[in-house]
Amino acid sequence: MTALSPAASATTAPAPVTAQTPIIEISGGAKVFGSFAALTNINLSIRDGEILTLLGPSGCGKTTLMRIIAGFEDLTAGSIRIAGNNAAGIPPERRPVNMVFQRYALFPHLDVFENVAFGLKLKGLAKAEVNERVERMLHIVQLDKFAHRYIDQISGGQSQRVALARALVNRPKVLLLDEPLAALDLKIRQHMLAEMKRIHGETGATFVYVTHDQDEALILSDRIVLMEKGRIIQIDRPQDMYARPRSLFAAKFLGETNLFPARVTEKAADRTVACGSSGIRFTTTVPTDAQVNAASVVSIRPESLYFHTDDPLSQSGEGTVEDIVFIGSRSFYRLRLDDETRLRIQVQNNSRLALPSVGERVTFYWDAENVAILPAE
Ligand code: ATP
Repeated sequence: MTALSPAASATTAPAPVTAQTPIIEISGGAKVFGSFAALTNINLSIRDGEILTLLGPSGCGKTTLMRIIAGFEDLTAGSIRIAGNNAAGIPPERRPVNMVFQRYALFPHLDVFENVAFGLKLKGLAKAEVNERVERMLHIVQLDKFAHRYIDQISGGQSQRVALARALVNRPKVLLLDEPLAALDLKIRQHMLAEMKRIHGETGATFVYVTHDQDEALILSDRIVLMEKGRIIQIDRPQDMYARPRSLFAAKFLGETNLFPARVTEKAADRTVACGSSGIRFTTTVPTDAQVNAASVVSIRPESLYFHTDDPLSQSGEGTVEDIVFIGSRSFYRLRLDDETRLRIQVQNNSRLALPSVGERVTFYWDAENVAILPAE
């Protein structure tokens, strides 16, 4: 008789799953390849039914983390629980998880219907059930009319939907999507993001999505996990991560921002003040890890700076307009400050307010909640 592994015994006595039980929970997770630490101190709780995106530059460990969830790799240290059960040592096919890869690996000798039906037939499901589930899934991904086309007779976006349908037809609790749109061009990608959100809404599965494209992450996610060099840097809703980056890396990685070298002069429970080298004082109400006297960087987005304000609490600085770039609905004004720092101000081109010209010295304004004071790296 073979001894039961901890993982096998865990599946024989499933834990009760409550509404609060995260569908996936990784605690103190680490992964080492030889002497290379690919993942360090990963603590991640994925909620049932959410779209969670792993975002970060190439090589930060996104795919490795995904492969650990899928069961293709094991953690070197720490624990992973899926639907409340210890998942260590459980093989991929016994996890309630399906993965869609960047290359969809569809079968060219089978039509769309048979590609989607493949896994169900392998499981030995009755023909009537296979037909019903495949038809329903083809309807959800809006490929009913393409059921009998071969893979080389459909477009890239349609192939992507076949891959989604093939994974979702197994009714996984969790769908893992590793850069599924990377092979598609921009227009189809945008369309597929909307499709993906709709399909997610119809299936109720948890989606874990890997990308290094910040726009994809912002559009699609309920929450973003920002990673750098094998570590989780920040986990937040897209709007919160964009508005309140907690590190210089997060501020720079997500969207465009203006950065001012500064030194923290005052820190209280509800506000922090930093002085820039151009003499500008920045006060923020956003919590910060920057310490008094420490070298810091102030981050303000181009759309959070204005040339006009009625708010007496707005903060202000002065600079000279160096150039103006018109791009249809918006323009970007580049200003030179007294310490030679440059900044960009975004203006919507629907305002009746007077706007400055190149060479003009101007006052610009911003609000405390849009200032992030970050530790210098
Ligand atoms: P990309 O966006 O380029 O796909 P990623 O964030 O998904 O990158 P991973 O593929 O997870 O990154 O790789 C993280 C790091 O671990 C990389 O430095 C990679 O070279 C290394 N790595 C991944 N798999 C192995 C392996 N089997 N053996 C050794 N090193 C590996």
